[in-house]
Amino acid sequence: MHDNVKGKTVLITGSTSGIGLGLAHGFAGAGANIVLNGFGDADKIDAIRKEIEAMGVRCIYNGADMTKPDQIGAMVQEAVDTFGSLDILVNNAGIQHVSPIDEFPPEKWDMIIAINLSAAFHTIRHALPHMKKAGWGRVINIASAHGLVASPFKSAYVAAKHGIMGITKTVALEVAQQKITVNAICPGYVKTPLVEGQIADTAKARGISEEDVVNNVLLAAQWTKEFVTIEQLAGLALFLCSDSAANITGAALPVDGGWTAA
Ligand code: NAD
Repeated sequence: MHDNVKGKTVLITGSTSGIGLGLAHGFAGAGANIVLNGFGDADKIDAIRKEIEAMGVRCIYNGADMTKPDQIGAMVQEAVDTFGSLDILVNNAGIQHVSPIDEFPPEKWDMIIAINLSAAFHTIRHALPHMKKAGWGRVINIASAHGLVASPFKSAYVAAKHGIMGITKTVALEVAQQKITVNAICPGYVKTPLVEGQIADTAKARGISEEDVVNNVLLAAQWTKEFVTIEQLAGLALFLCSDSAANITGAALPVDGGWTAA
């Protein structure tokens, strides 16, 4: 099923941690060359790069800041210059801030919109010409259950993720006849540094204990009462690159333990 991915180039934004890092491993395991991106300690990132190359593929790192459109353009260009193509784009970089809207710092709003939404506009506009030239492409946006429904105290994140659904559908229509699909994966809660960081913030915002946040807030809406795993998301991303998924486009694909069904 994953033959489609072998030898292809995958750029995953925010792949030095969490879901993006897991997706990088998943795609490398299926034989794709990887462009890593994201922040972090240089030695640790180099160790990740070497670990991925040990899987038998090539891997480069570009530290483009997703709030900087010119750096995003340069990263896409480096991917194409290095590997000769950019076949699969995964927009994954994301941050969170939890606070009531009347206390929400405007600079946090701007940063969340820039990283979680505008960055995808820039990666997509730079990547699509290369996919069109190759006659094949996949854009996978890591949105969220919060691209479909809201939770209180996450105004910027929910607005950005709903925005990602809009760009997913729009671009899907624009490239529908060019063998390029554009989809959004909408995970429920996955235990990554991003979620671990917001447990304390949510406890403060709601005035409850951290244990209560996990059991009664995070997993309250997740009917399976399980965190989603990164491997489950990688499996879906790889499926979206297969021929079986060639007619899935403009779709929101929840992986949320039933959250958005309720
Ligand atoms: P994470 O904090 O573990 O990883 C985020 C990644 O984004 C890191 O590599 C970080 O360096 C990178 N990043 C942050 N700011 C950046 C910037 N300005 N430029 C470049 N890279 C930057 O988070 P995660 O949980 O793995 O989240 C990944 C994506 O999945 C996000 O878009 C998030 O909204 C989404 N998501 C996560 C969950 C969850 O429960 N963890 C659920 C639904 C959706």
